[in-house]
Amino acid sequence: MEEKNNKQIILKEYIDRAPLATDLELIVENKINLNVAKGSSSILVKNLYLSCDPYMRARMRENYNSYLPPFVPGKPIEGLGISKVIASDVPDFQPGDIVTGFTGWEEYSLIENTKNLRKIQQDDDIPLSYHIGLLGMPGFTAYAGFYEVCSPKKGDRVFVSAASGAVGQIVGQLAKLHGCFVVGSAGTKEKVDLLTRKLGFDDAFNYKEEKDLDATLKRYFPEGIDIYFENVGGAMLDAVLLNMRIHGRIAVCGMVSQHSYHDTEGTHNLFVMISKRIRMQGFLQSDYLHLYPEFSQVVCEYYKQGKIVYIEDMTDGLENAPSALAGLFTGKNVGKQVVCVSSEA
Ligand code: NAP
Repeated sequence: MEEKNNKQIILKEYIDRAPLATDLELIVENKINLNVAKGSSSILVKNLYLSCDPYMRARMRENYNSYLPPFVPGKPIEGLGISKVIASDVPDFQPGDIVTGFTGWEEYSLIENTKNLRKIQQDDDIPLSYHIGLLGMPGFTAYAGFYEVCSPKKGDRVFVSAASGAVGQIVGQLAKLHGCFVVGSAGTKEKVDLLTRKLGFDDAFNYKEEKDLDATLKRYFPEGIDIYFENVGGAMLDAVLLNMRIHGRIAVCGMVSQHSYHDTEGTHNLFVMISKRIRMQGFLQSDYLHLYPEFSQVVCEYYKQGKIVYIEDMTDGLENAPSALAGLFTGKNVGKQVVCVSSEA
């Protein structure tokens, strides 16, 4: 029986606020058996890359009424990742295969439910870690949200918040490829520059420097907004509502500014939805999984043709994963936040 030391990141206790790095703890002394038992229908993987995603904050709450259960305090947290199969009792997965799906925040994970794992065909032209970013859940969220929820038309005026992040940067680029006029908001000058200089947005602004968001949006959209891709919630949503055009669409993808389950900010300007006949729709990317093959093909081609670029923020080492996750809620990440546990694929 081969045993290895297995560093893990555990949740200390439930919270109901924005996560801090100190809400998680690195456990150094922990052993794992690198074999899998015959008949266990499980696989043992070595984790290579872990994805930091805002939804994980909701799993750090005890009181949770969503689609994924809360994490268990004292146990390693889990998330989407890219892993290499070390041992397998599942015919579909062989040692050496590279897979993506839910895995533990630890060096090695025993995965008992392999139903939602996907094998990755490595391609020299696409960095492996992009399979949890551009070609993974965030990229797919942008694709499904933009095409299925926003009902885009050429010439539409599109506003994207958290625009330089994992999802926002793809939404903006898809909207440009669709012939839309696109403006993004982000929280630093560096991010604003990335939006206009690297990601091809028509314009961008730093929302933290704007005193009156209603006036700001009127400046960037004098004729109003047709599509708002909502990633942040709070005051931004209220200001956007006042600037929507008749028959505008708001795709509610996320509200990263709203941390607490019990104490969220109110939205005051919903009354404009009536006279402007605005459609505001929440969505989950998982409702559109039938579009995944189409998404992979289209976005892969766009990337290889240089029509889409992707910005990734890579943090090295499992020990730095807690601050990488917490950084999503202070805007520390520039692009898709990934943790490299091991680059030895
Ligand atoms: P991300 O944008 O890569 O990272 C989060 C960013 O949010 C931060 O970098 C920060 O950027 C911004 N932010 C943090 N706190 C904020 C605040 N108080 N006010 C305004 N902005 C704030 O994250 P992502 O993975 O692309 O996710 C974006 C949104 O999509 C999130 O709301 C997430 O929950 C949602 N999402 C939804 C689905 C779905 O199926 N519906 C799937 C994936 C993601 P700045 O520096 O610009 O502030």
